Formats: sequence, C-alpha cells, structure tokens
Amino acid sequence: PADLIARIGRMLKRAGPPPVVQAVAEVDLDIAEGEVVGIVGESGCGKSTLGRMLSGILPPTGGEILYKGQPVAGLDASSRHRYALDVQMIFQDPFSSLNPRMRVVDIIGEAPVVHGLVPRARKEAYVAGLMRKVGLDPAYRFRYSHQFSGGQRQRIGVARALALNPTVIVCDEAVAALDVSIQAQVLNLFMRLRKELGLTYFFISHNLGVVSHISDRVAIMYLGRIVEIADTDTIFSRAHHPYTQALLAELPSLRTDRRSFVPIRGELPSPLDPPSGCPFHPRCPHVMPRCKTQRPELRIRPGGEQRLLPEGQAGEQPAHMSACHLP
Ligand code: SF4
Ligand code: MG
Repeated sequence: PADLIARIGRMLKRAGPPPVVQAVAEVDLDIAEGEVVGIVGESGCGKSTLGRMLSGILPPTGGEILYKGQPVAGLDASSRHRYALDVQMIFQDPFSSLNPRMRVVDIIGEAPVVHGLVPRARKEAYVAGLMRKVGLDPAYRFRYSHQFSGGQRQRIGVARALALNPTVIVCDEAVAALDVSIQAQVLNLFMRLRKELGLTYFFISHNLGVVSHISDRVAIMYLGRIVEIADTDTIFSRAHHPYTQALLAELPSLRTDRRSFVPIRGELPSPLDPPSGCPFHPRCPHVMPRCKTQRPELRIRPGGEQRLLPEGQAGEQPAHMSACHLP
C-alpha cells in the first residue's frame, strides 16, 4: 500500500546514508614472484576485501596496487585484460561457485576458449590435461558439478583457475568448507602446483594452522590493518603481537589437550566503531594506559630488517614487523 511505502521512505530518510566502513587501511605489502603470502584474521578483519582488491574485482578507494611495477589502475585495456587473467581467485565454497547446469568440460574449458587462449577444437583435450593435473579423472568431464564430492569440486575450481594460465592465485578460505583430511589433500595439491607452475599465492584464511602449512610469510590482520608480518617460522618462534600470540595459543597442538584451549577473550569490535588507540586493546591481556589512546605503528622488530627472497635477493619489505607498544 502507498501509505506503507511512504512510511518506509520516511524511515529510510531519517536513517540517513549508510555508514562507511573502512574495511582495509594502511596495508603495505609486497609479494615476490613465486612467494606464498598467507593472510590470517577473524572474519570481518578485511582479509577478503584485500584479496578482492588484489584480484581486481574491487577497486581500492585509496592507495594503489602495483603489478610487475605498474599501477593496475593505470593499465591500458589489453594489459588490464592480461592482469584479469593473470590473477585468478579461488573461493571457499566450491558448491556455490560452480554452475550446477554446466558440465565440467564447460566450467573449466569455456573461459580459455572465449579469451582466445585455446581453440575450440582443442578444448576437450585441454580440459582433460587440466583435470589430470589437479588429480581428477578426465573420464568425468561430461558430468555436472553436483556429481562430485566437496574435495573434487574444489579441484574443479582449481582447474578452472589454472585454465587461464595465471601467475598469481588468490585463495579465499579455499579449504575452509572441506573436512580436515580433504583439506590436507587440497593443500598438498596447492603446494605441488606451486612447484610445478611457479605460482604465487595470496592465501587467505581464518585458520593460522592451515596458512602455516603453505605460506612462506604470514600477515596477521586485525580490524582492517596488518598487525604483524613475518616469515612463517618467525611467526611460530618469535611472534611479538599479543593478537598473534592469541591465535597461536588457539592452535591445537600435540602437546596441549583440549582443556588448555584459551580462546581470545571478548569479541571482535565492530569495524563501524573501532576502538581508540590500539584496536586490540579491549581484548589484550597486556594492555597498558597508552594503548587506549595511541595507535601503535607497524614497526620493524630487532633483527627483522632484512628480508631475503627465495632467489637470494633482498625483498623491499622488512622481514618482521609488528604494531604493538610492548618493547
Ligand atoms: Fe596490547 Fe597495547 Fe600491544 Fe595493543 S599496543 S597489542 S593493547 S600491548
Ligand atoms: Mg572472508
């Protein structure tokens, strides 16, 4: 009825424009070719937003993304197209990201044909090769995605991404929907493909354990910011930030039984109204008076200045940084 619509209209007017959330702020990250960088944080910390910006799905409202030294926003149409193919994304839910009315041969093979990477006559052979590469039987290429298990569907998702010959793969919770034993298989697949194809991964997960299996470096995010970043061994042996330490304490290990599980106290604050000072202060066991007013900068840790890349040259970014007032 018209009067109800008018009433809703008046209510919406009173509510004003939707609030603006800064999902990601001051993130400065360089990823070397062939490197695997893991991004860990609770849901709502901005890690997916960062992944979407990196893969070009979501343009940043500030700052810039550089690919091979070139700002992505300034690329001409053909380089932009190449970038869109070069950087592929793999999502959490293989069930919802695969079209149920398409056969596997089309799910994997249609995009490379449309983009001119493969002639249509070679599509089936191309798909068969990709299916073998990800551990699927090519005999199943005419099946529909619902005829596969969760782990197999994620392999289809991986093959679909690989079909475009990417150099960078952004994985957003790529194994989160799978059983633990299947998770391990898919992680092993990612590691094998990295070695075989020289891929670079940006590996997003809420699970530090999963990330540590595959990543050379790990960045810990909290409320839209990186609070600690270091190579994986350093995160495990010399984590500095209390939030990183809390995530580590949550990991099941052989030495701790379930009773010693210490959950991070309190809830993730709303990104609409982030706490003053250090955003982690309401939950931090080490909180000091200055933490409530002064936001700690991301600073280099002692001994963490020089970052070495796989080929031995120095990376642009320091090796270990943390944003915390603790000495
Ligand atoms: Fe905790 Fe203070 Fe460090 Fe924040 S700055 S993590 S509140 S000790
Ligand atoms: Mg997410």
